[in-house]
Parts: sequence; structure tokens; C-alpha cells
Amino acid sequence: MTIPEDHPRYRSLVTREHLAACARSGIVALEGLTAHGRGEAFDYLLGERTTASAAEAERVAAALLRRAQHPVISVNGNTAALAAPLLAPLQRATGAFVEVNLFHRTEERANTIAALLTQHGVAVLTGTPERLLPLSHDRALCLRDGIYSADVVLVPLEDGDRCEALRAMGKQVIAIDLNPLSRTARAATLTIVDELTRALPLITRAAETLSDEECDYLTRSIDNRYFLKSALEEMKQGLTHGLD
Ligand code: ATP
Repeated sequence: MTIPEDHPRYRSLVTREHLAACARSGIVALEGLTAHGRGEAFDYLLGERTTASAAEAERVAAALLRRAQHPVISVNGNTAALAAPLLAPLQRATGAFVEVNLFHRTEERANTIAALLTQHGVAVLTGTPERLLPLSHDRALCLRDGIYSADVVLVPLEDGDRCEALRAMGKQVIAIDLNPLSRTARAATLTIVDELTRALPLITRAAETLSDEECDYLTRSIDNRYFLKSALEEMKQGLTHGLD
């Protein structure tokens, strides 16, 4: 189907078509399509824009990644489908490792996603995943030199269980999640309540430009509840004035 460019929801429709194609090619799990729908609903309430508090969180995320000894970006199917071209610049700006980590895991799917990322210039960690996280599902599988050894993990579009498990292992977790009420958002060290493809370039830009002193200052004390409350406040405004 050709989506007319003047359609008021053009961008959203193109993204949906793209995700559907990625589901057909095995990159996105069918369940990932419903997760995307939940994200879209929250984005509507935000006015589909980066709020001032999200922009602030993106700078803190950049600082955390820059300050980390062993930063890792954990990539799932939706993240690869939506943002593969945005990951190599972020990797360059932060020196982070990139690891594929899937809830609906098959080796074939993990390899397809790694190949897509590689095509876009990402250096993807390779190796034999081991069951190293205290989880009963396949997201327990990770690389000893990757997520297992990380001090800071960026987990776009995460599930709450794994976020909690990573926190319990003493890691700092940065989540990107449009739902400020999700278990992930509440368990993370820092949650960026923004759409993934808006958030990643802003983190990259900040990582390229922040000074070391600014990184120290931004990471001194991180108040995740402040960022979640600010996002909810923005959404409340969206609900109150949506029909004005
Ligand atoms: P939790 O276990 O944390 O409560 P969940 O089960 O609600 O999470 P998932 O089904 O794993 O969450 O969905 C992932 C989350 O990603 C959803 O909360 C959704 O709002 C968010 N999300 C989906 N697409 C995007 C996107 N493009 N950008 C940012 N967030 C998104």
C-alpha cells in the first residue's frame, strides 16, 4: 500500500508499515507490534515531541554513558527495526558495546538482528550467550563480556523484569520508555520518557558535546522520580487541554 505523504498521520503509518515488514522478515516479534502500539498511545499524550524534562534526561543519559567504564547498549527487535541507523553514531560518541538481547529469542532472530545492525555500521558483540541474569525467561541469556560485565546499560524498550534484575546486580540502567508508569520506568536508574528515534540522536549529540565537568555534574545525583513526574505532568496537560 502507498501511504499518501499528505496524510496527517503519515509518519506514524510509515513506521507501522515498516514494523510490519520487519515482523515478516523476523526482526520484530509479533508481540513487539503491540508494544509499539502502547508506546504510540503515550506519545499522543506527550504531543509527539521531546519535552524539556526528557531533553534533560537525555543529557544525563549521555553523561552516564560517557562516564561508564563498560557501557553496553542492549538492542531488541523493535529497537533494531526503528533505530538501526541511529545506533552507530551513538556507539561512536559513547564507546558503548552493543549486544542483542531478546525476549522472544531464537538464534536465527538474534543473527538477523545482528546482521541488520552490522549493515548500519554498528560493531555488535559476538560470543556464546550464557544464562547469567537471574530471570526464568530467555532475556537471562547474555554475554559475559557484554551486559553481564556492564556498569551502565542502556535498555531501550525494556521489560520490567530484566530492568529490575540488572538493577539488583548493581548496574545503572538507562531506560527509554514512553510509559512513565511501567515497571521498567520505575525500576531504572534513569528513564527517558521520549520516543526512541527522537531520544537516540539527542543522547548522541549530548555525548559528543558535553565536557567532562558537565558529565560529572549531571551524574552526581539522579532523581528518576523527578523525570517520571514531569512526564506525567506533561501528559496530564495533554489530557486536560487535548480538545482546546
Ligand atoms: P513493564 O514490564 O516495564 O511494565 P511492559 O510489559 O508494559 O513493561 P513491553 O510490552 O515490554 O512493556 O513494552 C515496552 C515499552 O516500550 C512500553 O511501555 C511502550 O510504552 C514502550 N515503547 C514502545 N515503543 C516505543 C518507542 N518507539 N519509543 C519509546 N518507548 C516505546
